[in-house]
Amino acid sequence: MTLDPLSAFDNLKTHGRKLALLGSCSAVLGWDEQTGLPPAAANLRGDQLALLAGLRHEQITQPNYREWLEIALDSPLNRDPESDSAAILRALKRDLDRARKLPQTLVEELARTTSIAQSEWVAARAENHFNRFKPWLEKIFELKRQESACLKEGTDAASPYDPLLDEYEPGLTTQALEPMFSALKAELKPLVDQVAEHCRGKEFERILKRSFPTDRQRVFCEAAAAGVGFDFSAGRLDIAAHPFCSGFGPGDCRITTHYHETSLSDAFYGVLHEVGHGLYEQGLPADAFGTPLGESVSLGVHESQSRLWENLVGRDRGFWTYWLPIARGVFHEAFADVSLDAILSAVNVVEPSLIRIRADESTYNQHIIVRFELERDLIQGDLAVADVPAAWRDKYQALLGVTPSTDAEGCMQDIHWSAGLIGYFPTYTLGNLYAARLFQQAEHDLGDLQTAFSRGDFAGLLGWLRDRIHRHGRRFAPADLIRRAAPSAPTGHKPLIDMLRARYQRIHGI
Ligand code: ZN
Repeated sequence: MTLDPLSAFDNLKTHGRKLALLGSCSAVLGWDEQTGLPPAAANLRGDQLALLAGLRHEQITQPNYREWLEIALDSPLNRDPESDSAAILRALKRDLDRARKLPQTLVEELARTTSIAQSEWVAARAENHFNRFKPWLEKIFELKRQESACLKEGTDAASPYDPLLDEYEPGLTTQALEPMFSALKAELKPLVDQVAEHCRGKEFERILKRSFPTDRQRVFCEAAAAGVGFDFSAGRLDIAAHPFCSGFGPGDCRITTHYHETSLSDAFYGVLHEVGHGLYEQGLPADAFGTPLGESVSLGVHESQSRLWENLVGRDRGFWTYWLPIARGVFHEAFADVSLDAILSAVNVVEPSLIRIRADESTYNQHIIVRFELERDLIQGDLAVADVPAAWRDKYQALLGVTPSTDAEGCMQDIHWSAGLIGYFPTYTLGNLYAARLFQQAEHDLGDLQTAFSRGDFAGLLGWLRDRIHRHGRRFAPADLIRRAAPSAPTGHKPLIDMLRARYQRIHGI
């Protein structure tokens, strides 16, 4: 007997909730792996995560699920493309189409391999021993090539890198990305060179390298997080080696940071960044949890939220007009002689460097372009894993003018590849491009944001983002969502370049 469409749709929603809860359980284990797992538990955690990933995949691919979806897709529930039900069905169909192409053995093997590889990466990086990590990286890229081949079937993807990109940024292709990154690379280089030349030898950032007791940093970071709108009754801030944000579901969003006694900016801007992610997670509609309307739409859009708060808000005059007096109160002697102009110069230094997560907001994009080119070449079979360290050094020298002396501060600095996150890096720079478009539109719609920020009022901007981005979940494709949110801002790399140039001019006078 065939189900009626409404019952089929109800089944889909019940099922979706179960899937979301399984995903949430994996996220809790993943968070714990980064914040508190004993080293000897790595294999056990690998098995736990593999089991959950397998259960989840089993649920997604069970035959009844497909039948429910087909009944609902073929019913009046799918007639009006603007309706909630049609938006939900569209996203579920995309997910099912992708999942059905992947054999369960491959899904489980990837989960198991990447879990162990992450521990191996930690050890190999600590020992600066690339050959220890190499077999794991080879295995991961081999598995991701298999994944890409499965996903590519029945699509017109031109590059094996496309299906991997599409996982994080639906609709994005290598062909679209390459010219965008080239244009950005070309425009960014003279700007970076000019500002880096101005900053060289002035040691603007020295005021951020004084003694900042970590317990006070935590107080200041939490105050700023709450000040811009992060809800601590529905979230936590903990310590992990690599900062991240993980939204488990309504009422539970975890962010992490890493404190360094002699640097304020690492932890502080790390927190502002993760808070931006957290605000998005906390702004997703709770009553849509378990449906695509309760989920974030893409990594690029997610990153646009973090970059916007970290850079466009957190590095300008309004923000520090309000937070500098508070920082003086928290850090006493370390900040007693620090002026507004001094802090603004310090947080707008441009300097080519080796480590991505400590890069300034401009050269950051150059770090991303290196990773994009390498992983694209690895997936396309144009580069062997054994040649990654040398290729990395060459690209850093050519693009940033610096060469790492060890692989630990070269190709082993990021967790992403060990976690199987291939196609993920480009979304960071895409996020910068989206953020600039959104901020330009918000200024157009809301008026002078710097004055509001200088009074500690961040609610106007947050409300605007809630309305334009957060509340929609996966209702629209990422590019559509941004277009609807920022209809009068230019597309492409121009808003980012213009905004950076204008801010450096205001602050550095060049
Ligand atoms: Zn981020």
